Amino acid sequence: MGTFTSRIFNFNAGPAMLPAEVMEKAQGEFLNYQNSGMSVMEMSHREAKFQSILDDSIFALRKLLSIPDRYGVVYFPGGATLQFSAIPLNYLAEGESADFAQTGVWATKAHAEAKKFYPNVQSIFDGKESGYMEIPEITDEIVHDHAKYVYITSNNTIYGTRYAKFPKLKKAPLIADMTSELLSRKLDVENFSVIFAGAQKNIGPSGLTIVIYDKDRLPSVNHPIPNLMNYALMEKNGSLYNTPPTFSIYIAKLVFQWLLDKGGIDVMEKENEEKAALLYSYIDTSSLFHAPVPKSNRSTMNVVYRMKNSDLDKLFLEGAEAAGLSGLKGYRDVGGFRASIYNAMPKAGVEALVSYMKEFERTKG
Ligand SMILES: *Cc1c(COP(=O)(O)O)cnc(C)c1O
Repeated sequence: MGTFTSRIFNFNAGPAMLPAEVMEKAQGEFLNYQNSGMSVMEMSHREAKFQSILDDSIFALRKLLSIPDRYGVVYFPGGATLQFSAIPLNYLAEGESADFAQTGVWATKAHAEAKKFYPNVQSIFDGKESGYMEIPEITDEIVHDHAKYVYITSNNTIYGTRYAKFPKLKKAPLIADMTSELLSRKLDVENFSVIFAGAQKNIGPSGLTIVIYDKDRLPSVNHPIPNLMNYALMEKNGSLYNTPPTFSIYIAKLVFQWLLDKGGIDVMEKENEEKAALLYSYIDTSSLFHAPVPKSNRSTMNVVYRMKNSDLDKLFLEGAEAAGLSGLKGYRDVGGFRASIYNAMPKAGVEALVSYMKEFERTKG
């Protein structure tokens, strides 16, 4: 393993790379934030300077995604996984049901968690048989009449699949886990009743989750909801019901402003498509590597690929590490490789990966 004096290209699925500009800005302000004489990390969450950080971050996010006023934008602790419990508790009453599309590990976990509290929740798709390579077409016809919502994972981090087009439903509101792709592509927020994302893939440090929800479509249930999972309560308190992950919110703010400075989601989406095309198009012409995901379902964020001969996997990963290309090992149940190329991965990182793969193919293939 090499020793690096500069930063490497980190292809980890999450926590993942953050934009260098954001890290530098945070470094410059680290000891003394805007003449406060302290770090954001040391600042009271009730302090005006922190309130501005919080307000600015939500303002920037609303602008990036054109979030309508009737949607609440709330920061939650507990990672994306806490929402697997929070969503059913906020949206279902006893005995009620919702439909889940199990397109991977995360959707399956969300379904299992909801089922603990609401045994009637249903699965409308299970991709297990296809090794989760498929993405269902979800239409009103397959949604159950009594479903209170339809739950999807928009981008399947582990399997490298995504919904190229989102379902458009009349029968039930759509709820989406967008942890591994929020802010990477254009989005019609109004098509969803809830969108949530853990920060550590595309937004900031781990442990912080963003929830965007339509306040008009939040039901009032008459069972108790734990305070830190209660959408209405957390929203009413402006994400400050208790001490939020303040430093993570600060980094998220810097990431949102970085995105706005770049030109917003349209520019980012185009860049992401270019980066993904660079990698997939090489893999598709390679005689050593192949991508198992059907073209129509391929993620632009998590590129999953394999070698025909897995005996060379170790050699490939060691060589990559030595070349400053880190975090390429596939998820344990999937094997092979996964290059996570979120917003913060520069095109130069993908180019370096493709060069390395070409050279590996030439010399070892
Ligand atoms: C990473 C991930 C999660 C889990 O996030 P935590 O913050 O660890 O709870 C959930 N959903 C998706 C789609 C993910 O990629």
